[in-house]
Amino acid sequence: MTRIITQPHPNPVSATERAERIADPGFGKVFTDHMVVARYTAGTGWSDAELTARGPLSIDPASAVLHYAQEIFEGLKAYRHADGAMALFRPDANAARFNQSATRMAMPHFPEEIFVDACKAIARMDAAWFPPVEGGSLYLRPFMFASEVFLGVKPSSEYLFIVLAAASGGYFKPGASGINLLVSDHDSRSGPGGTGAAKCGGNYAASLRFQAESIAKGYDQIVFLDAVERRYVEELGGMNLFFVFDDGSILTPPLDGCILPGITRDSILTLARDKGLAVREERYAIDAWRADAASGKLREVFACGTAAVVTPVASVSGDDFKAEIGAGATGQLTEALRSQLVAIQRGTAADPYGWVQRID
Ligand SMILES: *Cc1c(COP(=O)(O)O)cnc(C)c1O
Repeated sequence: MTRIITQPHPNPVSATERAERIADPGFGKVFTDHMVVARYTAGTGWSDAELTARGPLSIDPASAVLHYAQEIFEGLKAYRHADGAMALFRPDANAARFNQSATRMAMPHFPEEIFVDACKAIARMDAAWFPPVEGGSLYLRPFMFASEVFLGVKPSSEYLFIVLAAASGGYFKPGASGINLLVSDHDSRSGPGGTGAAKCGGNYAASLRFQAESIAKGYDQIVFLDAVERRYVEELGGMNLFFVFDDGSILTPPLDGCILPGITRDSILTLARDKGLAVREERYAIDAWRADAASGKLREVFACGTAAVVTPVASVSGDDFKAEIGAGATGQLTEALRSQLVAIQRGTAADPYGWVQRID
């Protein structure tokens, strides 16, 4: 595969209808007119990618993904800069992680340059879908799944690679002052040797039951502990965690193969180190979290990921405790890191790291 073939939608959504849909898009519901599709077959490899009209797929009910969940995905945003140009944030890191996930799930690699080009091509084609809302973006969803029609258990010999784009507003309700977390005492999302470091749909499937339980109890998100000792904090269902202490140091759990190596996490580590902060990638036990919250040693906690960027955490609860952090207000360092990251992404601050790729 060497290129992306463009076949514009013959009958796109009208400008009036589009304006209505993107006025208050929410997250991941308002899709654009196009999608990118490429097919893989063992032997011939990847076909050329096509940027074409978005529409339903015709899938055989015996497609392997429907039975054995051989599927991976990525999530990244196209931002709009003040001069009107759109830009992607570290798309090369998403492309590289996509292939790390592919390796873990016994799937073929997708050429990283074409991954990035495909993201740029759909954003460029559907630029008119960019939502006119505060914090808005075009959320891009590249994914790959096993499409071989076969019920035997083995890596599929056929795959589809697709990129979708969705006009998106903020991930959490605006004005929320911090999210309230519930610690999982019975479900794990990953374990040693498992798929926790791969961005695969199955990890989310494993997190949904407890996520639903926590929402029913009035919480916003869940915290997973390590599956072996049920003691060490790993991450939320779809975001990494950071802790800020009274000595100015910050801590995040290490990439031990059980947590997802977030690109936001990595970017925040870089920003924090360059601010001269003491940064630790260390295990942190839930009992230490409770004790440090009670003593005041723990000043701020925040979650981070592409969708919600940086979100302050107001409290963490378990069956028999609730630990509140910083009276629920957004901490100073949380806000400083959030605004610095957002400014680089949106092109209002310099980008000394070469993270931003403009779409021309
Ligand atoms: C995608 C994801 C994250 C965040 O990764 P980013 O690259 O920062 O968006 C964190 N945890 C899980 C489980 C994820 O799937």
